[in-house]
Amino acid sequence: MDHVTSRPPASEADRHAWAEPGVEDLGAGLYRIPLPLPGDALKAVNVYAIAGEDGVDLIDAGMALAQARERLAEALGKLGFGLGDIRNFFITHIHQDHYTLAVELRTTLRGQIALGEGERTNMEAIRAVGMGRHEPGFIEMLHAMGAADLADQVRRLMSPRLADPLPRLQWSDPDRWLADGATLDLRTRTLRVIHTPGHTRGHVVFHDEAGASLFAGDHVLPHITPSIGFQPAITRTALRDYLGSLRLLLALPDSRLLPAHGPVRESTHDRVIELLAHHESRLERTLEVASGDPVTAYQAASAIPWTRRQRKLADLDPMNQLLAVGETAAHLEVLVFRGQLARHTSAEGVDTYAPASPQPPDTRPAEPRAPRTPAPRTPRPAP
Ligand SMILES: [Zn+2]
Repeated sequence: MDHVTSRPPASEADRHAWAEPGVEDLGAGLYRIPLPLPGDALKAVNVYAIAGEDGVDLIDAGMALAQARERLAEALGKLGFGLGDIRNFFITHIHQDHYTLAVELRTTLRGQIALGEGERTNMEAIRAVGMGRHEPGFIEMLHAMGAADLADQVRRLMSPRLADPLPRLQWSDPDRWLADGATLDLRTRTLRVIHTPGHTRGHVVFHDEAGASLFAGDHVLPHITPSIGFQPAITRTALRDYLGSLRLLLALPDSRLLPAHGPVRESTHDRVIELLAHHESRLERTLEVASGDPVTAYQAASAIPWTRRQRKLADLDPMNQLLAVGETAAHLEVLVFRGQLARHTSAEGVDTYAPASPQPPDTRPAEPRAPRTPAPRTPRPAP
C-alpha cells in the first residue's frame, strides 16, 4: 500500500523518527501506529493493529486524548477500517498511556478490552484513591524511602489531577482479565499471554510464536530502561519480579521486538541482555553507596548519577525524582533479597539499608559463610 510507509529502523541520529504520525507496515497484516502523548518524555505510544477480514485487533490503545483518538481513526482509515471495526483491545498494562483510550472508545463502540489479571490490585488501588480513601502507593511510599519533602512536592503537583473526577471514569474494569498462558486466537495469528511483572505487577506481553514477534508493551523498550514498579499498589519485589520477567524472555525463542515506545527491533534477546547488564551495574553501584553508614533510598539515590547525562537527583524535576528514588529502593530491596544488605525500619516507618554482615578484611582466608558484601571495585559515584 503506497499510503502506508515502511520505515527503516531509526538511526541514533534520529532517535525520535518512530514517533512521527503515520502507519508503519510491518508485514502480514500488522501495522504500527504511534499515537501522541502529552509532554515530551516518552514522545508517543505505539498501538499495533492486527488486520483481519472483518475487523481489527489492537495491542495497547493509547491515552484518552482527542488528538490520539483522531490520529487512530485516521490511521485505521488508511487500512480500510473505522474505529467501529475494532474488535479487541489487548492491553499490556494499566498505565494510562496504554489503557485509557480503550475505555473511552468502548463507551460508544463494540471493542472488548482485555487486561492481565495481575492488574486487579492496581485497579482496586486506583478506585480507592479516586474515592479519597488513600493516596497513590507511589506517593505513600516516599515516607518510608526517607523522602517526605519530595512527597509534599509531588502531592502539590498531582492534587489538581487527583481532584479531577474525569480521569476516574477512565478506570472501569476490562471486559476480560487475562490469565498467564492464555491463548488468543485472532484467526490471522495466535498470541500467547505471558505475565511479565515488574514495570507493573500485572504487565503482560503477547507472544506470536509462529510469527516470531513479541508485543512487549513497556517490559522491553529499545531506547530507555522502563520504570520499575511505578504503580498505585506498590510492591517491594518489583525489581526482583522484573529481572525474573526479563530472564523468562531469554527462555523463549528470540523474536522481533515490538515495543510500546520506540522503534521495532529485530531481536528481543539482544535488548534483554542489555537491560539485565544495566540493572546488574546499577545494583553494584547501589551496593557501593550503601556499604557505609545506613542510608535511606533517598540518600542512596542522591549519591548516584541519573539519566544519560549523569545528572544529580536534586536537578531532576519532582516526578523524575520520585521515579529515581523508587528505582533505587527497588535495587536496595534486591540487594536485601540477595543477602548483601539488611533493611531496618525505624519507629517512624523509615527504611534504612546497611551491609548485612560486617565486611571481613580482604586478607582473611575464604571460608564457607553467608553471602558477604564484596569490596567496592570502582570508585564511589560523586555525590
Ligand atoms: Zn507503562
